[in-house]
Amino acid sequence: MIVITESCVGCATCMLVCPADAIRVEGKAEINYELCKNCKKCVLYCPLEAINFVETAG
Ligand code: SF4
Ligand code: SF4
Repeated sequence: MIVITESCVGCATCMLVCPADAIRVEGKAEINYELCKNCKKCVLYCPLEAINFVETAG
C-alpha cells in the first residue's frame, strides 16, 4: 500500500500525476485507498520521496 510520510510538504505533485484521482492534498497528501491502484506513479514523482510503497502480507 501507499504511505505518506512526515516529509510531505503538500506540494501536490503526486495529486497531479495520479491517474486514478486517488490523492487529495490538504496541508499534506492523503490517499483514497478505494481508488488507489498501487501504480506507484506518485512514489516516482514526489520530489521529497515522501511517498513510500509498502508491501502488505497476503
Ligand atoms: S508529491 Fe510528495 S511532498 Fe508533494 S504533496 Fe505529494 S507526497 Fe507531499
Ligand atoms: S499509487 Fe498510483 S493510483 Fe495510487 S495514489 Fe499513487 S499515483 Fe495514485
